[in-house]
Amino acid sequence: MDLNLTGARVIVTAGANGIGRAIVDAFLAEGALVATCDIDEAGLASLPDTVFCARVDVSDAEALGSFMEAATGYLGGLDCLVNNAGIAGPTGRIEDLKIEEIEQTLAICLTSQFITTARAVPLLRASENASIINVSSLAGRLGFRLRSPYAAAKWGVVGLSKSMAIELGPDGIRVNALLPGLVAGDRQRKVLEARAEAQGISFEQAETDAFSRTSIKDYVTPQQLADQVLFLASPRGKTISGQALSVCGDTGMLG
Ligand code: NAD
Repeated sequence: MDLNLTGARVIVTAGANGIGRAIVDAFLAEGALVATCDIDEAGLASLPDTVFCARVDVSDAEALGSFMEAATGYLGGLDCLVNNAGIAGPTGRIEDLKIEEIEQTLAICLTSQFITTARAVPLLRASENASIINVSSLAGRLGFRLRSPYAAAKWGVVGLSKSMAIELGPDGIRVNALLPGLVAGDRQRKVLEARAEAQGISFEQAETDAFSRTSIKDYVTPQQLADQVLFLASPRGKTISGQALSVCGDTGMLG
């Protein structure tokens, strides 16, 4: 399927590793022009020279705003913004959470998406195929035991995406949220280890519990997620906006 993304101008936040890196690589393979930011300098240095890279912590509003200006200048406009940056946040009971950890989780997972979106919109209005894809999580649809800051941030991402779809639809800008479930990689392993420890259960039990929420009983790869992003960003996805797209076979039911 030709996705017609050759020459598309794309910004992906946190593109040095993991899902963001897979999204960057997938856009590059389609012939898109890509810019990204991350805190991992070594990871950024491993990207091809054609990618505009900046070391930016997305919780630093000023630095993120400057990155958006420089990146869109380099790209000569913007067709797609992928708000991918996110951290797992703390695992713990509400009374044990530190306010700094809660604020940091919200700043990285949610507030950063407000900042990039505000900067992107004037440029996206001039695009023939404008879209924003906000990475949420299955935790943006369900409650998440002992991970309330992350779940609150990811539900916020869905609320932001749906509101932006309504606000920006008349300008021809589509906005969708992507909700990964269990993604193959280190991060998921660490999350399950932390949950197992907090609940006093084995890693295997934590994994089994997590898979009980999904109908696809396997890890999704970052590359598979990147495929969904490409589709949503492409003209093929032009009839899809305001959706919270689950990419884990979310059952929508308990048990
Ligand atoms: P990851 O931890 O593998 O990679 C995250 C990247 O973000 C790294 O390159 C890291 O350096 C960068 N980063 C971390 N903090 C940053 C900051 N403050 N500013 C800029 N860059 C920063 O994570 P991932 O699994 O690729 O997750 C990507 C997105 O997918 C996140 O929004 C995450 O919440 C979401 N998600 C992941 C999973 C999963 O199982 N991995 C599941 C659901 C949703």
